[in-house]
Amino acid sequence: MRFIEPHAHMVSRTTDDYVKLASAGCAALCEPAFWAGFDRSSPKGFYDYFRQLTVYEPKRAAKFGLMHYCWLCINPKESEDMVLADEVLSIIPEFMASPNVLGIGEIGLNKNTRNELAILEKHIDLAARHDQLILVHTPHLEDKRKGTLLILDAIRNNGAIRPERVIIDHVEEHTIRDVHERGFWAGMTLYPESKVNAPRAVDMMEMYGTQRIWMNSACDWGVSDPLSVPKAGLEMKRRGLSAAVVDQVVYQNPAQFLGQTPRFKLPAG
Ligand SMILES: [Zn+2]
Repeated sequence: MRFIEPHAHMVSRTTDDYVKLASAGCAALCEPAFWAGFDRSSPKGFYDYFRQLTVYEPKRAAKFGLMHYCWLCINPKESEDMVLADEVLSIIPEFMASPNVLGIGEIGLNKNTRNELAILEKHIDLAARHDQLILVHTPHLEDKRKGTLLILDAIRNNGAIRPERVIIDHVEEHTIRDVHERGFWAGMTLYPESKVNAPRAVDMMEMYGTQRIWMNSACDWGVSDPLSVPKAGLEMKRRGLSAAVVDQVVYQNPAQFLGQTPRFKLPAG
């Protein structure tokens, strides 16, 4: 099954995972900048992380025949410290010229605080000024819908961002409709223990269709499964969806969204 893994934190995964992804039919993978599981102590920590995402991880992926792309930002968990966040924002532009950078992400909110929102707005402005795609992380707490609506409003308030160039990730049953109605793309994150599992993802497809959605594993340093996208493709088939629809959701949809930047290219054949 050919597929694109549009959201994977490969810096925290082993080479075994690259072998699994390549063997299962992965054509390309994309790595948003995120929280490392601990707070970094200075902008230099982010500088090194961005070098890892733009220089070293693409080389590691290439050893397994995989294209590696990335997104840049300071994540909402660490943007509560606005001095640190401003310094990190100031170093992002120099990395934007790297050939594997797709846009700004995963930005968003964690606890929906005033500081998080201020830094989110600065990221949106940065993306607008540099004509970048945006990948959004939505909060996992009980106020997920409130956070999602705050984020959608912040993007629309900017006025310079076209919604079809933004993907709102980690949608669930109570947020996907808000995202689609406003013209954005919606990402479903498949986790073994939380977020959405494959049967729920297929339920949502049955209710809301298969346009403007993608699925991802968001595999990272926690309990997660880098093969959750092809496994969900199997679940789609088990539920009676055609091979063409599976291909649309796991390959063509992410290729369509990501193809809005000329940086994103798929391997020939
Ligand atoms: Zn993530």
